[in-house]
Amino acid sequence: MLRAGVDLGGTKIQVAIVDKLNRVLGTDRRPTPTVGTPDGVTDTIASSVKAAVVNAGVDLEDLVGVGVGGPGQIDAKAGTLSNAGNLPGWMITYPLAAELSDRLGGVPVELGNDVQVGVNAEVRLGAGREYTSLIGVFCGTGVGGGVVINNELWIGRGAAGEIGHVKVMAKDGALCGCGRYGCMEAYAGRAAMELQARKWHKKGKKTNLFKIMKKKGKPRLASGVWDKALKTNDKMAHKLIDRAIWALGAGIASAVNLTDVQAVIIGGGLGIRLGQPFVDDIRDAMMPSLIKPQDPPVVLLAELGDMGGALGAALLVEQYIKPVATKAGAKKVAKKAPARRPVNQTAAKTSAAVARQPAPVPVTAAKKAATRKAAAKKATTARTTAAGAKRATAKKAPAKKTAAKKAPARKAPAKRAPAKEAPARKTAAKRAPAKRAAASPTTAARIAEAARVLTARP
Ligand SMILES: [Zn+2]
Repeated sequence: MLRAGVDLGGTKIQVAIVDKLNRVLGTDRRPTPTVGTPDGVTDTIASSVKAAVVNAGVDLEDLVGVGVGGPGQIDAKAGTLSNAGNLPGWMITYPLAAELSDRLGGVPVELGNDVQVGVNAEVRLGAGREYTSLIGVFCGTGVGGGVVINNELWIGRGAAGEIGHVKVMAKDGALCGCGRYGCMEAYAGRAAMELQARKWHKKGKKTNLFKIMKKKGKPRLASGVWDKALKTNDKMAHKLIDRAIWALGAGIASAVNLTDVQAVIIGGGLGIRLGQPFVDDIRDAMMPSLIKPQDPPVVLLAELGDMGGALGAALLVEQYIKPVATKAGAKKVAKKAPARRPVNQTAAKTSAAVARQPAPVPVTAAKKAATRKAAAKKATTARTTAAGAKRATAKKAPAKKTAAKKAPARKAPAKRAPAKEAPARKTAAKRAPAKRAAASPTTAARIAEAARVLTARP
């Protein structure tokens, strides 16, 4: 009754093998191929799953399902991933579910949107488990989001949660990856920030960003490069991150004004790397734009770290651990699928994958309650730094629930089990002092300066 979750990103493939209680038994992480074809990427995913299975000390046959959270357009029913610009040769519709299943001995494979599965993981297992309504904002190469209303991930007609394309600059906005101008992502996405840094650098503005990048052996300005540049008081890095914070503040506040959610969770590669100080700055930057600043939502750092994507992907195949779909039954269906599914979507839809109806499992109140009940039973006094950081945040924000009320639930081991296996994260306390002290007199002044720079743009 084990599942594999695959976080398929533009830079890395992270796999986690989890048990019934979503405890991580084994992991594997490797770079995503930057050249080649979707077939090649699928080979790499399959190798990574096999390696994770070995690391977990189990067999491939023990897997009842494999979930994949991927970038681009997902057609979960057809089992296809289309137009994933960050993956090599993937500006097509590719039958990833069937292809990966073939490489893994016919185990059912379900697909989900990378950000949505990440948000779902935080809702079910991480920072969002106390709330019934929230917005997840994942800052990475781009800025993705997920909206949870009454415990259900709101997917709209399939494309909800695109918070990165909320407009934060109506006039003369920066060009976004989507081809439009003034989107939040055009200021807060790592790709957009790198583009701007390169422009300024070319014009002769000084920065150590690219030196740090080379020293770290990275092909682009990864989150760690930004973190290092901020810690060494690189002016350009501070300027660009301040701009990002300004944009995130304006965009997230607008989304909060529309939805009045209880919590906002900041995650993604950059969000997790910059950690609590980044989250605090975003909360401060939201205030001027909130219609109800006296009662803002709680703003929290994602708790599952960079394992959130893989854990969320594993939740996509949660239905296979229920007696409704037995391992043998599920495999039988998968085996019926043609070895090579046509790339054409219409044809793909006629395949056996449709019969599997792989839809993400909605988070229901009942399920949440059951999880909490089970967790409460096993409660111990162990605490993690992540929980500590969260408590600190909860205290700061004038949340409706008190920190004291929330504390007992956080002790539950089941909820924290995945985080234990995640690569060690620095504690908020460790990071807090260094990050942005020198270049930042006060948050308000910095944000005002970022706004000034933005409005003065040519
Ligand atoms: Zn856009």
